[in-house]
Amino acid sequence: MKKVGLIGYGYWGKILHQKLKHLSDVKFICTSKDNYYSKLKDVDWVFVATTNQSHYDVVKKCLWAGKNVFCEKPLTPNFEESKKLFKLAKILNVKLFIDEVFWYRSELIDIHHLFSHSPKELKCTWEKYGRSDYRNYVPASFHNLMYHDLYLLQIYLKDKDLKSVNVIDKFNKLHFKAKFDDVEVEFLYDRKDKNKDTHSISGIDLKRSSEDALSKMIKQVLEGSVCFEYNQERALFASQMIDEFKKRIYKSVAVVGGGIFGCTTAWKLSEQGYNVDLFEKNDNIISQASNINQYRLHRGYHYPRSKETARQSIWGETSFIKEYGDALVNGKIEHYYCIAKEDSLVNAKQYWTFLNEMNLPYKEKKLDFIHENVVDLVVQVKEFLFDSNRLRKICWDKLKEYNVNVNLNTKYIDSIYNDDDYVINSTYANSNQLLSEDKQKDYQFELCEKPVIKLPEQYKNKSVVIMDGPFMCIDPYGDTGLHVMGNVVHAIHSTNVGKFPEYDSKFDELLNKGIVKNPSITNIDKFIESAKKFFIDIDKAEHIGSMFTFRTVLPNRDKDDARPTLVEQTGNNQFTLFSGKIGTCIDTSKKLINLIKSNG
Ligand SMILES: Cc1cc2nc3c(=O)[nH]c(=O)nc-3n(C[C@H](O)[C@H](O)[C@H](O)COP(=O)(O)OP(=O)(O)OC[C@H]3O[C@@H](n4cnc5c(N)ncnc54)[C@H](O)[C@@H]3O)c2cc1C
Repeated sequence: MKKVGLIGYGYWGKILHQKLKHLSDVKFICTSKDNYYSKLKDVDWVFVATTNQSHYDVVKKCLWAGKNVFCEKPLTPNFEESKKLFKLAKILNVKLFIDEVFWYRSELIDIHHLFSHSPKELKCTWEKYGRSDYRNYVPASFHNLMYHDLYLLQIYLKDKDLKSVNVIDKFNKLHFKAKFDDVEVEFLYDRKDKNKDTHSISGIDLKRSSEDALSKMIKQVLEGSVCFEYNQERALFASQMIDEFKKRIYKSVAVVGGGIFGCTTAWKLSEQGYNVDLFEKNDNIISQASNINQYRLHRGYHYPRSKETARQSIWGETSFIKEYGDALVNGKIEHYYCIAKEDSLVNAKQYWTFLNEMNLPYKEKKLDFIHENVVDLVVQVKEFLFDSNRLRKICWDKLKEYNVNVNLNTKYIDSIYNDDDYVINSTYANSNQLLSEDKQKDYQFELCEKPVIKLPEQYKNKSVVIMDGPFMCIDPYGDTGLHVMGNVVHAIHSTNVGKFPEYDSKFDELLNKGIVKNPSITNIDKFIESAKKFFIDIDKAEHIGSMFTFRTVLPNRDKDDARPTLVEQTGNNQFTLFSGKIGTCIDTSKKLINLIKSNG
């Protein structure tokens, strides 16, 4: 019996295992995250049933280890990568086989019989109620369902040219007609109808089968009695056709800016079927304001002077948690808002009224690490902080899952990349750069410092905001045990109102560099000095380093401190997102998608 290893033990991995244990000697089962590399020496074949996005890396490693590979379909989410892997298998003289289970069904004879009559019209229909991610992500049908029909059709269509594609429905189901020379094929894939369960090619029923085609295929693959060359041709045909259909059916979008707004918009658009390129000028996503901020997932408590911002925050929180909940910092953190006795723009009574009007729950408290005589009110509330490293990781997973083409180290310049159907400008501090002069707006640019400090034990897991004026806050910094400090006055090293940020070049070595230890410029002494009035023993804080970035806000909003998130059409095919608060990113991307759809 051939010795095999199985990488990937989800839904399909478990089905494969049921067959493999009768047909081979299964030496190991693991996931793509385990260290499978050291186990490869014990096997002849590796069966890969991990996520589509991980196939390229996993299969490549197994091929380099000199192993024969059976990979679940599709080999990779795009044709070019699949081609590379087949080429590598050839160079390394190992076998690479892609699952094509319907090829091993007895109906194949009927299908070939159908083709022998040179039909001018064909119809592929597959209606199968899908799990929510498949139901809602219509383009998932390309690889999940259509792939099978395409390798069955390959023998008939391989020498014909794709002339045209006529879309019937691309948002609720995948339904279109494709003309290959003089042959028209109608494709219909519907995952939303609970009552339907069909699969057929021009009346040949592929739904019901009592035969065990999967075992038949695996057995022949392990025996070496399949034609690997034809399997490769069919896999590449299916993959190439899917790339081509996607290109013709869905519009292309360039999303500029890999902050949380750009990343979210990119994967959300891709989820809707758009072919999305994300451009980020830095060497990673989430590297500017989305990486350096106060990490508060606002629920509204911060904005007693702008109910609009408070409302946007409340609405945004739920949708943010649904998609990015794993980025939230541990639930042990206690959150406090304090109203300062002097110089506050909102007094205790006004704050109570605001909280009650907005239905924001709170409990009055006394804190033993805050000087008693300087605050009029302390409330404990429920709010969250997020960890930007985890946020980045989730964004990468989503971008990969939805097959967004990410271009790092690529500064988007309109005159170079201008062949997309839509351009989304989500560049925050750089928003005006992509706009024509008449569309450019004034912003207030604030070059901010965020000190990272180690505080005495009594501050552990405490987030405290002193409101509402020229004050400060301290918040736990992820799970590090450290805190980040905010200060309305001393955090800002320079401010300008205009089209672009203006600042002294001596900040270049500090801006967007993460935590800079012993920074050449810092206001840390001023942060601590002003905090001493409120926080007991704050002068015992150890300064670990500081982070620097630009905050960009609408000008002249000092009176209400509003931070609205805006979505605007700024050109024929161009939209600009301007971010107020991070929690609004999901709602904003949905708004944008509706705007694009209403544009045709
Ligand atoms: C000090 C500070 C504290 C804050 N605190 C909070 C808080 O606690 N909670 C909250 O909700 N919000 C907070 N904010 C606001 C929040 O950080 C921003 O609203 C949000 O991060 C902006 O996200 P973004 O994706 O629009 O921008 P960014 O994260 O800045 O991303 C824009 C990206 O565009 C890229 N880019 C620019 N031009 C180009 C180009 N031509 N080609 C390619 N790429 C380009 C940049 O490199 C950057 O990566 C704070 C902001 C600051 C600065």
